[in-house]
Amino acid sequence: MKRIAFFCIPAHGHTNPMLPVAAELVKRGDSVRFYSFDEFRDKIEKTGAAFISCTSFLPEVNEEQMARLMNVSQTEMTLQAIRTTLSMNDFLEEEFKRFCPDVVYTDSVCFWGKLNAWKHHVPMVCSTSTFAFNQLSSKYMKQSRAEVRDMMLGLPKISKELKTLRPYGYEVKSALALVANNNQTDTVVYTSRRFQPYAESFTSHYRFVGPSVFSELLPQKDKARPLIYISLGTVINDRPDFYRKCIAALRDMDADVIISRGQYMDEKKLGDLPDNIQAFERVDQLEVLSRADVFITHCGMNSVSESLYMATPMALYPQTAEQHAVARRTQEVGAGVMLADDSIEGIRRTVKTLLSDQQYAKAAGECCEDFRSCSGAKGAAEFIENAPHTCDGIDPIAEMNKVNRLWSIIFPILATLIGILLGTQISWGLGITVGLALGVLSYPLNTCVQKLRYNAVIRKMKTQ
Ligand code: UDP
Repeated sequence: MKRIAFFCIPAHGHTNPMLPVAAELVKRGDSVRFYSFDEFRDKIEKTGAAFISCTSFLPEVNEEQMARLMNVSQTEMTLQAIRTTLSMNDFLEEEFKRFCPDVVYTDSVCFWGKLNAWKHHVPMVCSTSTFAFNQLSSKYMKQSRAEVRDMMLGLPKISKELKTLRPYGYEVKSALALVANNNQTDTVVYTSRRFQPYAESFTSHYRFVGPSVFSELLPQKDKARPLIYISLGTVINDRPDFYRKCIAALRDMDADVIISRGQYMDEKKLGDLPDNIQAFERVDQLEVLSRADVFITHCGMNSVSESLYMATPMALYPQTAEQHAVARRTQEVGAGVMLADDSIEGIRRTVKTLLSDQQYAKAAGECCEDFRSCSGAKGAAEFIENAPHTCDGIDPIAEMNKVNRLWSIIFPILATLIGILLGTQISWGLGITVGLALGVLSYPLNTCVQKLRYNAVIRKMKTQ
């Protein structure tokens, strides 16, 4: 029997995938304490784990900070997470002494879980509710200008706030070191290896257990006419303009349409609905997806996983950087089309393409089979119980970065020598120009060399 401490941030999307894992560990006789927040008490207690409330430690948030949080400001979220870690310090100090966990299982953006595992030298396994991100797969994230600006302006504030952690024994160099998991961090990822971008760049410290989907339902697509399902998720869904365009695009189509409009929007904003279209505040999404032929989605990781689990191809309408990454991967596996043109005509055209070209449904069906063959909560539980893991295999990212280090030493020397040679032999004007040009080209050349090295390592791994 192991003692396992679960930590998660107050968010359903992050908490939900951890629940079946907690239930499985409890079933196997382990003792699980789940540190979470009151609104999650019921679903955590249903798993059989002990629910430990951390609600009273959440720092007060003023109006300005709340507005930034609602705008999904990474800076504000990071600052709040650091403050929460501080306010929980004494409580968790006692808890770690009393419970003496053998393993900490923490969401990968839950700072207080990670920091306390490191501080108390307890083996840690991270739970990643999106894709696993490293320097390659994070290229799938398309950050908006506002997101980049928020991060750049926020960095000094974050480093200042991080310093407040040090007197309490939390050693952390940068926010990046806190958020990013490297190839030595034991990590559970709720998707399949096949669906993970750059899957081959992750070592066996990563366990891809497949999406955490709570349904026994199978895809059931036989019916008189197609069903189109529309949802923008549960967070940023107050988009009457978009739903109205969908209604206009699909009202004359020989198809049924179900819209999940979300909790924030007044249904009157949708206007009168034609007979073939129904709108609800919330639906049983998995049930609807099991019957749907097309899903117009904002590309939240859960929605896309559920759609593929139910073999439903998608019109991809991402809004945030993370959703862009999910959308791009879905398009790559052939199970969706980007809704690049969100005009009435664009929506109609995309839906018609998805309905008429069977290759999209076929690709979604292949993902469905792949997801259903993953090890699921059982695989995650076994991985957590046996942490920490060792890995003797090659780390492709470390190999790639070796090139980076060599390059940063050799290339400036080489560029200077070439510049001096040209300067002394031909002319200083030419020497300086070539030296500067080489300096400018350093980054793209380095990227090329890294890529070559990475491909060589992957080839070597495949032949071993
Ligand atoms: N969901 C639901 N009914 C609805 C709309 C959404 O059950 O009418 C669920 C959906 O099944 C998914 C989650 O809400 O599990 C949405 O998560 P996702 O990661 O897709 O998006 P987010 O809401 O976090 O943006």
